[in-house]
Amino acid sequence: MKLPLLARHDIHLQDFGSEKQGARFAAVFRDTWQRLPLSARRALLAHWRAPDVFCFDSRRSPRVAIVHYLSRVDDPDVMGVCRLKGHEFQFQVGAVAALPDEHLATLIAHELCHGYLAAKKHPDADGSEWEENLVQEINGIEWGFDEDALDDYCDAIGRPYPWRADRE
Ligand SMILES: [Zn+2]
Repeated sequence: MKLPLLARHDIHLQDFGSEKQGARFAAVFRDTWQRLPLSARRALLAHWRAPDVFCFDSRRSPRVAIVHYLSRVDDPDVMGVCRLKGHEFQFQVGAVAALPDEHLATLIAHELCHGYLAAKKHPDADGSEWEENLVQEINGIEWGFDEDALDDYCDAIGRPYPWRADRE
């Protein structure tokens, strides 16, 4: 079964838990995408059309998947990750299930924002805390997703947002 994320661009969800969960995630993803500034959407689409990562099947960028275990992430509290210079996005199945739509949208936008920085070849797109701060700023202030509300929700369900916990 194919679950379109951006059907017009032939972008589909690659892996997902249950069909129901995949369908819900895809709907939230589509809604989130529409809320991004046009300039960000264009930068991401152009980036995905011309993958600059070797060992990557260019017909399949971006790879967006719901997974049990995030690649190369040890911390079980991490909910999502943007990898391969913005060509791969993974979301942890338990996090997708735990987050209400609005917070899931913030998480999706957050990871897309990492991809956006990679697309723009931003000098801070290096996986550092600088990048993390910048993403929270762009996603929260320019794109209008409520990072603080996501943060609070994660605290409330006992799944603290790891980067922030690290910084305090
Ligand atoms: Zn991040």
